[in-house]
Amino acid sequence: MATIAFIGVGNMGGPMARNLLKAQDKVRAFDVSPAAVKHVTEAGATESKTALDAVKDADVVITMLPAGAHVRSVYLEEQSILTAARKDALLIDCSTIDIDSARAVHAAALKAGFDFLDAPVSGGVGGAEAGTLAFMCGGSDKAFARAKPILEKMGKRIVHAGGAGAGQAAKICNNMLLAISMIGTCEAFALGEKLGLEHQKLFEIMSAASGQCWSLTTYCPVPGPVPTAPSNRDYTGGFATALMLKDLKLSQAAAQGAGAATPLGAEAAQLYALFAAQGNAGVDFSGIIKMLRGGQ
Ligand code: NAD
Repeated sequence: MATIAFIGVGNMGGPMARNLLKAQDKVRAFDVSPAAVKHVTEAGATESKTALDAVKDADVVITMLPAGAHVRSVYLEEQSILTAARKDALLIDCSTIDIDSARAVHAAALKAGFDFLDAPVSGGVGGAEAGTLAFMCGGSDKAFARAKPILEKMGKRIVHAGGAGAGQAAKICNNMLLAISMIGTCEAFALGEKLGLEHQKLFEIMSAASGQCWSLTTYCPVPGPVPTAPSNRDYTGGFATALMLKDLKLSQAAAQGAGAATPLGAEAAQLYALFAAQGNAGVDFSGIIKMLRGGQ
């Protein structure tokens, strides 16, 4: 049984912390939102009044925060996790953040003598609740080996992608591909509709042909063929457009920094920015088919 400090217990961090409690770990929670903390103290976590209190004497520190600026603030400020945590504590950041921030925090943690892992997730709130998240990890072999048994309590696929920042890099490459393949799948259905094809027929043909992809067979953007997809619930309850746009912006910033050409990634970022600006930030990202149908 480990003592785990959990900083950031929102939509994702909350259910992740609850799965650690279910696995009999002790969880000390800190969040700037009292409502978020309440959800985990009700499940057995102890509330900490500050991040520094939470990490004191903890075996493991997990952060699950909105963006790079928040992660930098809790790790890099003068009074921070790096000054308050036990020197043999394992530090894991599960937030999705920019690669520069991930590498800066890694470097500072290593300099201070800590094992540190960037471990962003995919699987969304449903995966966090079910304990079936996929973790993409960046850091040393030793940090990964220490983190794996802990991450297994919150996820079902734990992959070591490489060194510092490699988890973040893998996550944004995957989500850029997802955005591109979703837009392509939506365009194929929108064209099929105009050409008089039935959704189900087109689905059966493409899912057994070379157009097959996850956006089609698991997350079909038209209602009917895949009953569990958000398209059957008017595009609610899935992966919000605002979060997809965040990941696309991160991938574009990374591409620019690395000098990589990602013309389709850039186009996807523009289309999702437009869709979000039309009042759809909270709509599932497969809902972009509504905008694509409208274009002539
Ligand atoms: P969220 O906004 O629900 O949770 C973030 C929490 O961090 C909030 O409760 C907020 O109050 C807290 N917080 C902010 N600054 C803080 C600070 N300085 N100290 C302590 N707490 C602080 O967001 P979320 O949906 O849980 O997402 C968390 C991360 O996971 C993000 O990086 C997001 O991109 C990533 N992610 C989200 C999903 C998803 O489907 N929601 C999927 C994959 C990855």
